[in-house]
Amino acid sequence: MLIDTQGIGMTSQRTRDRLITRLREGGISNERVLEVIRLIPRHLFMDEAMASRAYEDTALPIGYGQTISQPYIVARMTEAVLHPPTPARVLEIGTGSGYQTAVLAQLVEQVFSVERVGALLSQARQRLSHLQLRNIQFRLGDGHEGWEKHAPFDAILVTAAPEETPVGLLQQLVEGGKMVIPVGKSQQQRLQVITRQAQDYTYQSLDWVSFVPLVKGMG
Ligand code: SAH
Repeated sequence: MLIDTQGIGMTSQRTRDRLITRLREGGISNERVLEVIRLIPRHLFMDEAMASRAYEDTALPIGYGQTISQPYIVARMTEAVLHPPTPARVLEIGTGSGYQTAVLAQLVEQVFSVERVGALLSQARQRLSHLQLRNIQFRLGDGHEGWEKHAPFDAILVTAAPEETPVGLLQQLVEGGKMVIPVGKSQQQRLQVITRQAQDYTYQSLDWVSFVPLVKGMG
């Protein structure tokens, strides 16, 4: 593990352990996912003003009208992405704070992350390089387009919600690959796992979730 886990006060290991207990109680069972979340300093992914709440199981504002995802949802989505066949190359849409990116980067070989707000992307890039996570490539752009140059991906994880599944993204999956994505109108969406089988797709619905919208075009 590359990340230094020492901390004091609000960032103490005990506070983080409490979060893990809560995730377990919520049904998260992948031990690798739980361990990575236990070790990642989530307080580094937000403004200092918010940091005292970093280990609560809640989404928090990160500026530009965006939020860092709730740890339970990060765990749930990561667990779904890792479900066998375990992916090696994963495309993430909506870098935001970079927190979900950090979790993924410790569990798969290569992460490709696309964000439309330049300021968020550069902050995330700095944080992740500070944490010495080097298996991540970033792109400023509209996630609806995916990342053609590096496609196909073993998995795609989308952390902002479109009203309908972006078909172009599905086409950047390998055969047998899966996309984990919240789909629906604002406030309430259904988390879906869509698996590609040749030209066919199977859909599985997980929890109801509330993500910020996947916006068309650039920020
Ligand atoms: N996983 C992030 C969640 C950030 S919120 C975290 O834990 O911090 C969703 C992010 O998706 C925001 O940063 C928003 O700017 C970004 N986003 C919204 N529409 C997008 C699009 N079309 N392409 C890429 N990123 C988008």
